[in-house]
Amino acid sequence: MLKGTAASEGIGIGKVMVIKEHTLEYTPKQIDDVQAEIQRFKKAVDTFCENTRAKAESVRASAGEKESEILLGHIQMIKDPFMEGEIEKLIQNGTCAESALENMCDTFIAVFSAADDELTKQRATDLRDVKTGVLSVLLGVEEVKISDASKGTVLVAGELTPSMTAGINKENIVGIVTETGGKTSHSAILARALEIPAVLSVEQALTKLEDGMEIIVDGSEGEVIADPDKTQIEEYSKKREKFIEERRELEKYRGQKTKSADGIEYQLCCNIGKPDDAVKAVECDGEGVGLFRTEFLFMDRTSVPTEQEQFEAYKKAALILKGRPMIIRTLDIGGDKELPYLGLEKEENPFMGFRAIRYCLKNRELFKTQIRAILRASSFGEIMIMFPLITCVEELRQGKELVEIAKEELKAGNIPFDENIKVGVMTETSSAGVIADILAKEADFFSIGTNDLTGYTMACDRGNSDVSYLYSPFQPSVLRLIKNIIECGVKNNIPVGMCGEAAGNKLMIPLLIAFGLTEFSVSAPSVLSVRKTVSEWTKEAADKVAEKVMTLLTEEEIVNYLKSVAK
Ligand code: PEP
Ligand code: MG
Repeated sequence: MLKGTAASEGIGIGKVMVIKEHTLEYTPKQIDDVQAEIQRFKKAVDTFCENTRAKAESVRASAGEKESEILLGHIQMIKDPFMEGEIEKLIQNGTCAESALENMCDTFIAVFSAADDELTKQRATDLRDVKTGVLSVLLGVEEVKISDASKGTVLVAGELTPSMTAGINKENIVGIVTETGGKTSHSAILARALEIPAVLSVEQALTKLEDGMEIIVDGSEGEVIADPDKTQIEEYSKKREKFIEERRELEKYRGQKTKSADGIEYQLCCNIGKPDDAVKAVECDGEGVGLFRTEFLFMDRTSVPTEQEQFEAYKKAALILKGRPMIIRTLDIGGDKELPYLGLEKEENPFMGFRAIRYCLKNRELFKTQIRAILRASSFGEIMIMFPLITCVEELRQGKELVEIAKEELKAGNIPFDENIKVGVMTETSSAGVIADILAKEADFFSIGTNDLTGYTMACDRGNSDVSYLYSPFQPSVLRLIKNIIECGVKNNIPVGMCGEAAGNKLMIPLLIAFGLTEFSVSAPSVLSVRKTVSEWTKEAADKVAEKVMTLLTEEEIVNYLKSVAK
């Protein structure tokens, strides 16, 4: 059995089709007629852009807007004036188009690949894809065609690039296995969008798996079985049926309210990073957006987005949501989220440093621009503002003060906005958890960010495998903070949501019901399963479980107990 990252749930049983990238070989040569070579390069770029646009169209139809945008992003990459200019400079010096393109792309690929965060790493994959695409045109080589795959095919590749996946027909492809890529890579996102089981980062997949080989892909467990025997095929066929049945069962919850077994209503929202993600949130039956991570609007560009650009993005999401509520979190950069153009200094300890609300309060113009954009969008939907990484009440006060200043400016300019816009706190630091009683008196709502809350409380970096065993929201300390935050919110009559990963965790849900949470915000595909779990608990039963949990001493005891009572 081969192990990898479980990137898209489900079981696929089929035959391997290995995707080999063509070797794009050429002999670099010195160019005399540089103008003609530049024209040749430009023509190749035009053809590449045309092909990519066509692919993006077909992907939009099969997998959706987001996947199609990834491909359109490739056009922006090669059309980037700096990139084009540098390549042309190399050609001017007599380098052939192929070498010039490769040199430039490789330089950036090396920079992107060396980054710590997955998003920047992802750009290396994109650029590699762009390079292959343009080189193929220059050399007149046909690209790999996945659309020819027959029914019951499992795709095996080093890396599934966005352009390769354009041809995937979900009727024929039953599984995906790659040698690289994590849960948030393009391959993973696309596999989930198409609901194709996928296991990524399988070491030596290309050496161990051969064309035509029978194979089982368990995308739920992250396992791949090559050449399975009869018993294994039977076992996994049953597992596949069970998975499909469970998915079908979840459909019963579509269009329903989110209610506990004894009729208490909850709000079940989605987390988004771009306005278009709101489409998916609505499609997946989300009741609103509980967290709009606005930093994505600031990424993949070379300067801060203007007020107008931001306003249009927030308005777009609000219009897609058609009156459903949306919490917009103000810029959360620093830590693991870098924005090179802001020129932030490298810090010894970025997670403890100059990030999120701390950065925004020191860069008031940038912050006020964002607040004005959010306020302006608030006349197009039910929008709320949320500040990240609050650790003390002064930060909340200063943020609110800026909201008031922005409101005055808009009023003076006769620009409409929601005068009663709510301003809330993302409770994601241990300090916010401890002083939730103080913050609750001045915030309009809380949303618990368990991703950071867990890290800060346990003083552990989830990305560091030596200490990741400590990283669990079920640690008694983290649970005590979650309980305190919710109870302080309840006491002060403000809604408390949870937008960290833990909100979608089946084992966490009874505890949240018991403590008095009012809103869950999860990834769009988790909406129906969270609605199902909520419907299985009464407040009384959840209270009993929570009472017992709070007497347990270790994370292991807590998780085992919660597993034993899970529905
Ligand atoms: C969190 O910290 O729980 C959270 C939702 O925010 P992010 O993952 O964007 O830091
Ligand atoms: Mg956070």
